[in-house]
Amino acid sequence: MESLTQRSYDAIVVGTGPGGASTARELARAGARVLVLEQGSAAPLAGTLGQMATMALPGRGAWLHRDASLLVAGTALGGSSALNFATAAPPPAAMFAAHGIDLAPHLAALRAELPLAPLPDNLVGPMAARIMAAARAAGFNWEKLDKMIRPQACRSGCWRCVYGCPYGAKWSARDFVEDACRHGAVLLDRSRVRRVLVEDGRAIGVEYRREGGTHTARAQTVVLAGGGIGSPRLLHASGLGPRLASFFSDPVVAVMGSVDGLDDPNGGAEVPMAAGASFPSEGVALADLTLPAPMYAAFALQAGRVDRVGAHRRTLSIMVKIRDDIGGAVGPRWVDKRLTPGDRARLDKGIGMARRILEQAGARQVFASHHFAAHPGGSVRIGEGVDSALRAAPGLYVCDASVIPQPWGLPPTLTLLCLGKRLGAMLAGAGVSSEAVSR
Ligand SMILES: Cc1cc2nc3c(=O)[nH]c(=O)nc-3n(C[C@H](O)[C@H](O)[C@H](O)COP(=O)(O)OP(=O)(O)OC[C@H]3O[C@@H](n4cnc5c(N)ncnc54)[C@H](O)[C@@H]3O)c2cc1C
Repeated sequence: MESLTQRSYDAIVVGTGPGGASTARELARAGARVLVLEQGSAAPLAGTLGQMATMALPGRGAWLHRDASLLVAGTALGGSSALNFATAAPPPAAMFAAHGIDLAPHLAALRAELPLAPLPDNLVGPMAARIMAAARAAGFNWEKLDKMIRPQACRSGCWRCVYGCPYGAKWSARDFVEDACRHGAVLLDRSRVRRVLVEDGRAIGVEYRREGGTHTARAQTVVLAGGGIGSPRLLHASGLGPRLASFFSDPVVAVMGSVDGLDDPNGGAEVPMAAGASFPSEGVALADLTLPAPMYAAFALQAGRVDRVGAHRRTLSIMVKIRDDIGGAVGPRWVDKRLTPGDRARLDKGIGMARRILEQAGARQVFASHHFAAHPGGSVRIGEGVDSALRAAPGLYVCDASVIPQPWGLPPTLTLLCLGKRLGAMLAGAGVSSEAVSR
């Protein structure tokens, strides 16, 4: 028997990745009564492989495509930002200006408060430094990347960014959810929204599952921020979106090779993506990508290089990330996307560049992993699934990677924080507050 709990708020935000957390915080700071629903757990980050597996294994936030490539996303408080590499890039202004959206003021405000800078040299690991030297010697404009990391809390010889930083060094969307809660927002984790409730064409709340029961919560504003996979599914489940949604995912290949002279006892334990180079006109970006030993071993095994499984401590790894074409489909229960010939050509170009750098570094036994991806988005695009106010229907908004209007190929987090800040401010300015509701 279903238990039906009736609660009322000014706004309900579904999902706590960067888009949802930023929107919820802005609304709560403006005095709105906000309910935040997250299907994943809010358990503190422990920085362990075991906990990471609960957030991002197939069935828990990751999806296997028919070509055996993996799409990874985080199902936890903070969404994928709990697991990400904390690399930051500003929003591409022209892409959003084409829809009348100016993110500059929001970016300036976020820059003033977020930890956002290249790592100090002492936190750039020996592998990243060796790759940087080789890339520069090979003629690449290889620069340190902006990271959302608090250097004073970060440590060298650590591999935990991607497991979920337990030291509070890496910024994650959890920080903004906590701030929202300090301003009165109510967070319910392990609460999976099943559909948006619609009355006379207008969103009036959501139905969600929690602790074995089905509940409803009501608000005059609902913001879907379930990510590039979650939001199109929720729209479809609510009768407000198509069954299949095409998307991008920014596929990645790791190109790896072993070198001599790396005798660091912490070998292979460092912040990934400390530095890199990008080629926007070609849709290719490169960076160092030193991952924890079990993840490296999985890459080597998947590439059929059993002989390299034990070589983690002396293997340099370069990430090749591409801007893929929008295609494939997010279905109600599955996700599938294959590389187009254009995607394959971009990957091959990047792999060639990475091989040149590894050769310059003196690497042997160079091999490339199968491709995988971690940036699902573009599935509810501005101008198609939502308007420039991110509105999908009266009272219903979407604010996450799904609204990105074009093929991407960039770290999305900072852009999503800007979009959330803008949406939260717009909604607050339009009177999504208790006073406005009771009028
Ligand atoms: C390994 C890895 C490394 C990455 N590295 C970087 C990086 O260095 N820099 C960068 O900018 N980006 C990086 N990313 C990508 C970045 O983290 C994501 O693009 C970003 O988090 C997407 O934010 P979002 O707002 O779309 O929501 P998401 O982060 O996708 O979060 C959505 C949340 O909604 C919840 N949800 C979904 N459906 C429901 C539902 N029905 N009910 C309740 N809750 C629901 C999910 O559980 C999830 O917590 C990385 C990602 C991964 C996985």
